[in-house]
Amino acid sequence: MQQKIIGYHQDELGDWVAELACHHGQHVRHKPPFVNRPWVVSVAGRKKMLNRVLNCVRCDRGEAANEQIKAKYCQKTEQG
Ligand SMILES: [Zn+2]
Repeated sequence: MQQKIIGYHQDELGDWVAELACHHGQHVRHKPPFVNRPWVVSVAGRKKMLNRVLNCVRCDRGEAANEQIKAKYCQKTEQG
């Protein structure tokens, strides 16, 4: 399923993970020569890719949303 990139975070190894509109995460690694995503290593590049779509295999598999990503974008409007 095609999902928009709504943000990013880095995993414990420092690899970038795109946060998708469906609240799934997808690694967007730049590991030349096998995986070439030079845009991911710069702030400007990542900004440019915001709102672009990625194919989300987790949606296709019907996986539950990533709770951490979900929490990041679904924060309570009222402070306790
Ligand atoms: Zn998804």
